[in-house]
Amino acid sequence: MTTPTPAPTRMEIQITGIRKHVAECVTETAGKACGIRSSVWEAPTQLNHWIRAHAGETGHTKYKKHTEEPVSTSPKRAE
Ligand SMILES: [Zn+2]
Repeated sequence: MTTPTPAPTRMEIQITGIRKHVAECVTETAGKACGIRSSVWEAPTQLNHWIRAHAGETGHTKYKKHTEEPVSTSPKRAE
């Protein structure tokens, strides 16, 4: 499925919340990724604790760290 590329607009993008951090285990076992995700935290240091604990329990070795940030758009004000 393809969608047409929208024409560029002058939208403001504003961060509306706190940046959150989540870790995901992407270790593949028998051709299938583990896929387990940690809780979502406001501090990235928690991710390492979660990864160490999961690695200790499972022996899994490959992870991704994600950050997410809520934003909203609004039309750019005329000058
Ligand atoms: Zn895992």
